[in-house]
Amino acid sequence: MKRNHLLTIAAGAVLAFAPTLSAQSRLSVVATTPDLAALAQVIGGTRVDVKALAKPTEDPHFVDAKPSHIVTLNRADVLIDGGAELELGWLPPLLESARNPKIAAGAPGRIVASDKVTMLEVPTAFDRSKGDVHALGNPHFMLDPLNVKIIAAHMADHFSRVDPKSAALYQANFKAFDATLDAKLIEWQRKLAPFKGAKIVTYHKDFPYLAERFGLEVVETLEPKPGIAPSPAHMAKVISSMRAAKSRVILVQPYQNRKTAETVARQTGATVLDIPQQPGAIKNTSTYFDLMDYMIGSLATALQATP
Ligand SMILES: [Zn+2]
Repeated sequence: MKRNHLLTIAAGAVLAFAPTLSAQSRLSVVATTPDLAALAQVIGGTRVDVKALAKPTEDPHFVDAKPSHIVTLNRADVLIDGGAELELGWLPPLLESARNPKIAAGAPGRIVASDKVTMLEVPTAFDRSKGDVHALGNPHFMLDPLNVKIIAAHMADHFSRVDPKSAALYQANFKAFDATLDAKLIEWQRKLAPFKGAKIVTYHKDFPYLAERFGLEVVETLEPKPGIAPSPAHMAKVISSMRAAKSRVILVQPYQNRKTAETVARQTGATVLDIPQQPGAIKNTSTYFDLMDYMIGSLATALQATP
């Protein structure tokens, strides 16, 4: 209730003070999450000012909606969201208050990353009342570099439509990024090749795309369903299947309950691995490539250390 009240006040402030058009010559690009923002910066280069709404240490499903987000969205030329209901819990009311037709669904200024991605784990039947937050399939597709390629091309296409005079620059930036990604993917695949079939555990169901691309297997998640806190009964099941599968690594994000992971780790001889998937959550990971280098490197080190 408190949050809705704040949003109403902020909507009034936006209407009173915001300019109707972006005064800057550069495109004002807003991304819901830092990973999409980092990618937009590479593709947009000097022609864009990019802001992320979520902090790198915030759960993308449950971002704290602030009045300042409404102002940011009201002034945006382009909005990039993950889609597939990743931001269902917080973005729709912000967009409603921001009243910006440039970033409405279907406008050239709206890029929904999931639109071009083949989704994993699309449920055949779904009961939202149980609290599962992956109603349209798994929205954590940025962890597969081949999806990042697709989304980068999608961004270059939309930036070119919104700002046609810089289209050649956006396409050149995409080509350069794409070539680097091809080379890095070979390097990352080589690094994880010795661990094909390794069985990992994650807190949330956020690693299936990475696991599939690099030949790892997610055997359990500490959450019984995406978005539902671990229960004692579920933890007991996780512990027994981790023992059976000889799974020795539990991956956690900065916004997840590390104590729960540590409890399970103590009973299974596993290591808890902090492996943030948003650029900037820890030092020296502010670009997509730095972040992936860190993630792949940490995974390889952790898996090497486990029998
Ligand atoms: Zn999720």
